[in-house]
Amino acid sequence: MNGNILTRREFLAAASVGAAAVVSGGTGVYAQATGKAGKLALQGGTPVRSKPFSDWPIWDRADEESILSILRSGDWYRGRGKVVDEFEKKYAELTGTKSCLATVNGTNALLTALHVLGVGIGDEVLVPPYTFVATISVVILSNALPVFVDTDPETFQMDPDKIEEKITENTRAIIPVHILGTVANMDKINAVAKKHNLKVIEDACQAHLAEWRGKKAGAVGDLGCFSFQNSKNLPCGEGGAVIGNDERIMDKCHSFTNCGRSYGSIKADGCQFVGTNRRMTEYQAAILLGQMKRIEKDAEIRNKNAAYLTSKIEKIPGIIPQRFYEGQTMGAYHLYAFRYKKEQFNDAPLGKFLSALNAEGIPAWSGYSPLNKEGIIEDALTSKNFQRAFSKERLDKYRRENNCPANDQLCNEAVWLTQSMLLGPQSDMNDIANAIQKVYENRGILA
Ligand SMILES: *Cc1c(COP(=O)(O)O)cnc(C)c1O
Repeated sequence: MNGNILTRREFLAAASVGAAAVVSGGTGVYAQATGKAGKLALQGGTPVRSKPFSDWPIWDRADEESILSILRSGDWYRGRGKVVDEFEKKYAELTGTKSCLATVNGTNALLTALHVLGVGIGDEVLVPPYTFVATISVVILSNALPVFVDTDPETFQMDPDKIEEKITENTRAIIPVHILGTVANMDKINAVAKKHNLKVIEDACQAHLAEWRGKKAGAVGDLGCFSFQNSKNLPCGEGGAVIGNDERIMDKCHSFTNCGRSYGSIKADGCQFVGTNRRMTEYQAAILLGQMKRIEKDAEIRNKNAAYLTSKIEKIPGIIPQRFYEGQTMGAYHLYAFRYKKEQFNDAPLGKFLSALNAEGIPAWSGYSPLNKEGIIEDALTSKNFQRAFSKERLDKYRRENNCPANDQLCNEAVWLTQSMLLGPQSDMNDIANAIQKVYENRGILA
């Protein structure tokens, strides 16, 4: 009986997608107008595109000189240098926050935030399953349980309506990840956090300059963490930052990552506080200062191209671009993503669709696999630390409830394009749209 209901629902969904295609003028007409439909490159036809997309990263002579001048000064580390200080000041300004701490990388920015906000042994932290592994490892390294909240498949974000049911008396913090550069639903997340007295650590490692209601991503929760790894929208090879508006907390971040020394309101009396060394080097900061000259312009181009690409490909049956919440006033587009519905493509598996697209000269990937099912979870649960910190009952309950069906499905449907593909002219977007359209036109022979 259930089966019948589902079948009918699927039928209705399929019928409404078909109707939309007719309203948009029919996809065949579009393909004819562009003249791109033809034999798939996968089957020996001419690819839609043979040029590469924009290079990444991008630098100039001034960047080369600023690095050389640091080298020649001999002051390569933060202690005697000025460049990291300057970067922190400028990044706080750019994000509209009171304070910024530069770190060695994004993973250590997250670790610092968790430590300073008091997340530790026996705690639970709410996390999304659709993210880079670092978001989860930092919770495990803090000897806390990463509790997965299922994904909202429309936005790829932590489903804001499924957070509250995961809260227990041990929950300490939420890590919304502004995944792929779109922003999690911060209104709902902050409201739930306030109600239950939880800390909010934004993983904004993919969301430089994205905005929620006019505020920069990373500046909306208690602390925001960034990565400046080579592929990120603000790159320096390896690097990271924590931003925040609570000066005392930020002073603690500075002190903790500088061996527990005094910083601002934190007055250490000798070796009073336990700390670590996560200091950024002067070279990293010099590259970042150079990159910051272009970041706003790049963000504008990505947003413009992404909106244009969406307007083109959302008309193709079975292609559903990632949506964003109404509160998002700017996207970062670290990745451009859409869902691929194979039912509209003659049931061709995602891998087949991707090979066809790649052959047309469009690099595209399938993205994350479900993190809540990865080996790191069982590895953590059976570790000595976890066995000591958590009762058998808690770990068994965790295993039973560790299910994210919406995310499982998203991982089977997601397609990614990298941010640098959005930096070229509008004709690059036409190539992407035409290639997807061409694969769609040829769906009959794809499976
Ligand atoms: C890149 C990234 C990190 C980790 O940053 P690193 O600088 O590579 O340590 C964490 N979370 C997300 C979502 C990321 O994309």
